[in-house]
Amino acid sequence: MMHKILVLPGDGIGPEIIQEATKLLNVLRDHFGLSIEIEPGLVGGGAFDATGNPLPNETLQLAKDADAVLLGAVGGPKWESLEIALRPEKGLLGLRSELKLFANLRPAILYPQLAGASTLKPEIVSDLDIMIVRELTGGVYFGQPRGVKTLDSGESMGYNTLVYKESEIERICKVAFEVARTRNKQVCSVDKANVLECTELWRKVATRVGADYPDVTLSHMYVDNAAMQLVRAPKQFDVVVTTNMFGDILSDCAAMLTGSIGMLPSASLDANNKGMYEPIHGSAPDIVGKGIANPLATILSVSMMLKYSFKEPLLAEKIDLAVGKVLTQGLRTPDIYEIDTPGLRQVGTKEMGDAVIAALKE
Ligand code: NAD
Repeated sequence: MMHKILVLPGDGIGPEIIQEATKLLNVLRDHFGLSIEIEPGLVGGGAFDATGNPLPNETLQLAKDADAVLLGAVGGPKWESLEIALRPEKGLLGLRSELKLFANLRPAILYPQLAGASTLKPEIVSDLDIMIVRELTGGVYFGQPRGVKTLDSGESMGYNTLVYKESEIERICKVAFEVARTRNKQVCSVDKANVLECTELWRKVATRVGADYPDVTLSHMYVDNAAMQLVRAPKQFDVVVTTNMFGDILSDCAAMLTGSIGMLPSASLDANNKGMYEPIHGSAPDIVGKGIANPLATILSVSMMLKYSFKEPLLAEKIDLAVGKVLTQGLRTPDIYEIDTPGLRQVGTKEMGDAVIAALKE
C-alpha cells in the first residue's frame, strides 16, 4: 500500500534534521520496499513569512490528505513579537486540533550507551524504556469556562475547567492498552482521584476499559506519587496513561531522565492511527546552521511512523537497531558527547544521518 507522507521541516534546525530523516525515508523506499510518496510543505515561522499564516490552508489540506506527517520544529526569536494567533507554535497546535490528534505517545528511552549522559545514576536509568500516553485535545487546557474576571470586590480571579467525557477517557485508555500489548503489557493510569472528581471518573473508566484487556496489568497512581516514582525508580513503568496537563508535566520529566533532548521522538495519533511524528525538542536557535544538531530524535520519529501508522514493526525495529549500532560505534553529536570518555567521536548532523543509513544497510 502506498503511504503519503507530508514532510514539514519548519524553522531553525528543523530543515537540518529533516534532511537526514528524508534521506532515511528515501533509503527505506529504494532498498527496503517501503511504498511511500513524500510531499513537502510549509509550517511555522517560515510559513508566516511566505504566506502571512503559520498554518497555510494548503498545508492543512496536504496534512488532511496525507497518511502521516513528519515535522521538524517550529519557532524562533524572529517571530516572538508576533501576536499569539500568528506565532509559529499556532501552526503546530492548529495541526494537532484540525487532525484530531488526541493521543500523544512520548517514549522515554535511554540507550545503555548513553547512560552516563543522564543526571540520574546509570543503574537507575540504563535501559529505561517508558511510554507516556498523554491525552492531547481535552482536559483543563481546553475546558470551558475559562478566563480572568474582576470580582465585585475589585480583585481579579483566574479560572480554568478540568473536563473529560467518558468517551474521551475511553479512547485514550484504549490506545494505552493497545500500545502495552506491543510492549511489556503493563499500564499505569495516573490521576488525582482523591481530590478531583473528574479524575475519579478517569479512574473508573480506565478500570472499565482495562477489563477488556485481561492480558494487560492495570495499576493506578496519584500524579504526585507518579512524579516521585519517575525519578526514584523509573524502570517500574511500562506504559503510563494520563490527562493532558499531567502528561505534559510527567512526559517532560521522563524525557529528562534520559538526559538528551536530541534523542527523543514523539507521535500524535488520531482514532485511525494517522499520526504526526516529531522530535520533542524545539528549533534550537542557538545552534542553527552549525551542522551539529542531533538528527536521531527525528530519525526515531520515522521509526514510530513505521510502527504506528504504517504497521511496519520490523522496519521500525531495524531503524532502532541502526541507531543503537552507531551509538555503540561511539559516534556522538555534541549534545550527547561525554568529555573524557574514551572511544567516543564527535560528529555533525550529516555524518550521524549517514552513519545510521550505513548501519541500516549492513
Ligand atoms: P529547544 O528544544 O529548541 O532547545 C533547548 C536546548 O536544547 C538548546 O540548547 C538547543 O540547542 C538544544 N537542542 C534542542 N534540540 C537539539 C538537537 N536536536 N540537537 C542538539 N541540541 C538540541 O527549546 P527552546 O530553546 O526552549 O525553544 C527554541 C524555540 O523552539 C522556541 O521558539 C520554542 O517556542 C520552540 N519550540 C518548538 C517546539 C516544537 O516545534 N515542537 C518545541 C519546543 C520549543
